[in-house]
Amino acid sequence: MIPSTLFVNPQLIPTEPESNQCHCGARLKVQKTQERDVVVLDFGKLTFNETVKYCPVCEDVFGSEKLKALVPDYCKFGFDVIEFIGKKLFVEHHTENEALIALKERNVQISPRGISCLGEKFIAYLARAHKDKEAEVRGESTEVGKRSLRRFFR
Ligand SMILES: [Zn+2]
Repeated sequence: MIPSTLFVNPQLIPTEPESNQCHCGARLKVQKTQERDVVVLDFGKLTFNETVKYCPVCEDVFGSEKLKALVPDYCKFGFDVIEFIGKKLFVEHHTENEALIALKERNVQISPRGISCLGEKFIAYLARAHKDKEAEVRGESTEVGKRSLRRFFR
C-alpha cells in the first residue's frame, strides 16, 4: 500500500497578503500559515494555504485579500454560494431542497441546514448593504458594507 502522504493535494492553493509593508511603513513578518477550506461554485471544495503576516511595530495582522474577497470571515462557503442560495430562495422562490439540488449540479455539497443558514446570511448581508447604502448617501459607509454592496447590487 502507498502512503497517502506521498501525494501532494492538487488543490492546496498558496495565498498571502499582497503587500509586504504595513500602512505604518514597517516591513511585515510572517506570523503563521494556515489551511482553510473554502467551497465555491463549480470548483467545490478548495484548500488554501494562507500565509498570515503581522506588523512588528503596530501589531496589525494581515491575511490574504483574495480569500477575503472570496469568502466571509469564519465561513467556509464563498460569497458566490451565498448569493446563489439567496437568489434561488428569495428571487426565484425555489424551496431549500431545490436549491440543494441546484448546488449539487454546481459541485457544492451542503446540508439542508446549511442552505437555511446561508439563506439567513444572505438576508443579513442585504440588510447590511441596504443600511450601508443609506450611510453612503450620508458619507458614512464602512468597508464591509461596501463589499456587500458591490456583491449584491452590481
Ligand atoms: Zn505597522
